Amino acid sequence: QLEPEPAPWELAAGADLLAAQVVFNRPLDTVYHYLVPEPLRDMIEPGQRVKVPFGRGNTPTLGYCVGLTSEISTSKRLKSITEVLDRQPLLSQQMLDLTQWIADRYLSSWGQVLESVVPAGVKRQAGTREVVFYRLAPDIADLEALKLPKKQHAVMQVLAESEEALRVDALTEAAECGTSPIDSLRKKRLIVPERRRMNVNQITEMHVEPQADLKLNDEQQSALNHILKTVRAAEYETILLHGVTGSGKTEVYIQAIREIVSYGLQAIVLVPEISLTPQTIRRFRARFDNVAVLHSHLSDADRHWHWQQIAQGEVQVIVGARSAIFAPTPHLGLIIIDEEHESTFKQHSTPRYHAREVARERARREGIPLILGTATPTLESLVRTIEGHDKLIVMKDRVEQRPLPPVTIVDVRNDPLIQRRHSLGRALTNAMQRALDSGGQVILFLNLRGFSPVLWCPKCTGIRCPDCDVTLTWHKDRGRLLCHSCEYEIPPPERCPTCGQPGMRLLGAGTQRLEDEVKSKFPEMRLIRMDSDSMRKPGSHDEALTAFREGKVDILLGTQMIAKGLDFPNVTLVGVIDADSLLHQPDLRAAERTFQLIAQVAGRTGRGEKGGRVLVQTMNPDEPVIQFAAQHDYYKFASYELKQRKMVMAPPYRSMARVILRSLDEEVVAEEAKRVVKFIRSHISEKKLPVRVLGPAPAPITRLRKYFRYHFQMTSDQIQTIQDLWREIVPYMKIATDVELTIDVDPVDL
Ligand code: ADP
Ligand code: ZN
Repeated sequence: QLEPEPAPWELAAGADLLAAQVVFNRPLDTVYHYLVPEPLRDMIEPGQRVKVPFGRGNTPTLGYCVGLTSEISTSKRLKSITEVLDRQPLLSQQMLDLTQWIADRYLSSWGQVLESVVPAGVKRQAGTREVVFYRLAPDIADLEALKLPKKQHAVMQVLAESEEALRVDALTEAAECGTSPIDSLRKKRLIVPERRRMNVNQITEMHVEPQADLKLNDEQQSALNHILKTVRAAEYETILLHGVTGSGKTEVYIQAIREIVSYGLQAIVLVPEISLTPQTIRRFRARFDNVAVLHSHLSDADRHWHWQQIAQGEVQVIVGARSAIFAPTPHLGLIIIDEEHESTFKQHSTPRYHAREVARERARREGIPLILGTATPTLESLVRTIEGHDKLIVMKDRVEQRPLPPVTIVDVRNDPLIQRRHSLGRALTNAMQRALDSGGQVILFLNLRGFSPVLWCPKCTGIRCPDCDVTLTWHKDRGRLLCHSCEYEIPPPERCPTCGQPGMRLLGAGTQRLEDEVKSKFPEMRLIRMDSDSMRKPGSHDEALTAFREGKVDILLGTQMIAKGLDFPNVTLVGVIDADSLLHQPDLRAAERTFQLIAQVAGRTGRGEKGGRVLVQTMNPDEPVIQFAAQHDYYKFASYELKQRKMVMAPPYRSMARVILRSLDEEVVAEEAKRVVKFIRSHISEKKLPVRVLGPAPAPITRLRKYFRYHFQMTSDQIQTIQDLWREIVPYMKIATDVELTIDVDPVDL
């Protein structure tokens, strides 16, 4: 009887065989195995990209090598890797493991996570070029014995005396010759070329005057002491640093980083992109020598350069937005997330990770502390401290005994100005007059998500984008109507495009309209408007804030953008124009966002000697959330809101995943959503799983960029239950080809 013929990898079983585990930038859960042919064995390492034949047609495809193994258990014949694309691994083993965790946690594929974690500039080595260095061939002992021509001899002499390999230009200069002796020597194999990638340009950072650390007050000191205890124990712990606005959290971060830098370790500081203000950055630059700032305007070349510097351990502190959590620090000692409550830490495309959760996992794996700093902790973070998973530290006072500003709720329901469609009611107008008369500055805050100026037909409705379910917004400076979800824009029509009526009217209180109103009420005052329209030019944000700080501007007017992390001693009045607009959003976190906004905005005043106050205009003066915000009472708000969440079985008490289906055909997507939900429900009841399904329903913005969107939610006590359920059913769901489906684990925007 004949033995079955062994497959090639069984033949080679043992030390001789090497296979790479490869994942692809596609929504595939599988890790594929490829044989590593002999010539590539010395080159390949996990964390590099490889080229492999993929699929039936063996299409050359780029993949990530995530591991190497000599034990393979597959019955299929293995294909071989054709090329190793990177000289160095793009990611360390530690970061590979972390990306695998992200894929599991957020139900995306490992390959997709890798693709998004490594910056494009790093992949294509932007801003570098290959430079050739030379060194002596290894077995050369006696130069004289070679009897070389004079110039070649000189080159050899220089190299023999040099400890390092030398670049051609250094070599020709030292040997006082041209390049031809070098070419001849290379042909004789007496010198050996060595190719290295060099940066073309190095980034010159702005110069900042160094500053000494401040002497901490008692609250700051005891917060710092606790953090340092964790740092010295070299243990993982998440510390929620709940400090009111102006309590000096940044100073605590800085001194904690001071300690870990003295051990030769690095720190990552995550900030919301918007508050990557030059002010914050200057504060870090003034205290540390090597600060890398990773913001969204970096060129590919700059990003690559920073990445290398960080990987080589040249950087002490990395300050950056969400994706800076993937900074390849070789010796990380501390992670800090400032303004922990900001929703920009959640990524809104695949992989939909939350940087706070990735940071927690990274800190846990590396055995280091994670600090979450905020004046308004998310309920998720608060509950973790209540349940004893994380540590809570409270700083309840502002530095130097400055009081929190008094907040007055102004009921504008019967205000005659508001009724005449003004944005500034009587009380606020008068308060502005007084503040400005006594030489103070004023910030007016308008919520962008609330009303925008729209053209309104007196007979029917506003003008909508033909591709999105969104009313078009009037932009005065361009003289056009714009869609805020896509690129659609039109000049304002004379007549209503729907019913043909003339007499379109402008409604709403956008920042531009507010600007006009403020100008007409305070014609003498200098005013600056900050919103995403007026701040489009790089640097304009910095310029505007500098002008305001230097007192060249009296009134600063803007959206969310100005509610964050700023510190102006001369601001004596903050006006919140429409505190309610967030409150009525169809969003689980509507109340939480409203509280956060009022609290954060209030934090912009009362920082200096003159004190300050806050006026909040509202149509809902009895709304508890607005009351709690006015009282600066976070804990009252939290216990009120947590009760609500418990009642409706929502996060943070339940884990949630949201599934979005989209299609160009509304009927198809509605049917498909119904079918999928029915399928999931029957699976749940069959397996008796503790999962609730809510929906399907049209998504709040049902039509976006021509696509119709439906969604449903799944909740459970454990996220694991939802993850397991999803992985189990996905292969059987058989989604119609013209429908796209995405899942968002722990969604923050509903
Ligand atoms: P937070 O981040 O908590 O809002 P900041 O760190 O921005 O507070 O501090 C508010 C202001 O107080 C800053 O101008 C800061 O320089 C100053 N400050 C912080 N700590 C001290 C201190 N111990 N002594 C004096 N001033 C301080
Ligand atoms: Zn649109």
